[in-house]
Amino acid sequence: MSSSKNTFIAFLLNLSFSIIEFIFGWLFGSSAILADAVHDLGDALAIGSSAIMQTYANKPADRVYPFGYKRWNILAALLTSSILIIGSSLILVENIPNLFHPNPVNQDGMLVLGIIAIIINLLASRIVKNGHSHNESILSLHFLEDILGWLAVILVSIILQFTDWYFLDPLLSLGIAIFILAKALPKAWNSVKILLETSPQGVNLEELKEILLALENVHEITQLNVWTMDGYDHCATVTVKLTNPAVADKTKANIRNSLITFGIVQSTIEIL
Ligand SMILES: [Zn+2]
Repeated sequence: MSSSKNTFIAFLLNLSFSIIEFIFGWLFGSSAILADAVHDLGDALAIGSSAIMQTYANKPADRVYPFGYKRWNILAALLTSSILIIGSSLILVENIPNLFHPNPVNQDGMLVLGIIAIIINLLASRIVKNGHSHNESILSLHFLEDILGWLAVILVSIILQFTDWYFLDPLLSLGIAIFILAKALPKAWNSVKILLETSPQGVNLEELKEILLALENVHEITQLNVWTMDGYDHCATVTVKLTNPAVADKTKANIRNSLITFGIVQSTIEIL
């Protein structure tokens, strides 16, 4: 199966199952399942948007988008993180009071849904594991991780067969919400930083400047701006004073090659 087909199946599985979770979480009165529904909706959105963006974001630059379409990827990631942050914040607000006044849940229903969820996650993990792309291996691991949350749901439903510790359900939902936030907040912040044109992560400007200064014929770097399109492909503008302006072309080529080793694929070099 092709990578996009596998991803599409994983997307459909996550989306349809998250809808099932929203319905049954509400029917069973289980906040933990609702929290997992938010999580799976986020997974579905992330998988779906990255599948769409795989082709769209790689379109070549044109008149309307002179820098290309890569930033659409960042916008999609920011949207997905925002939905996760809003969803998990709602769960936190809703369930902190529920800890002290827990409502009974349908523990038998939780148990059945938990078992189905584990089967679906194993299935999704296997489907994408057949692929070889980097994205697919990350996804495959992710689905295995998700099983841990469901094992907790099953554990709570089993404990509730013998006790009336109904506070365990909101408690678990808080744990899941905090887990979602811990992943979504840094992701959202990274997207915002890219949109705000901060220097890209992993590019040490001081080190880059030193490497450029060490090049033959480079006398002084008066300006060096580096930003990133999507966290992987970076751009730069460099203004440089040369010792011998007569051989500017060769020096420019050397500067460009040095920039490429830092992932800077698009550069504008001005010679003073
Ligand atoms: Zn997940």
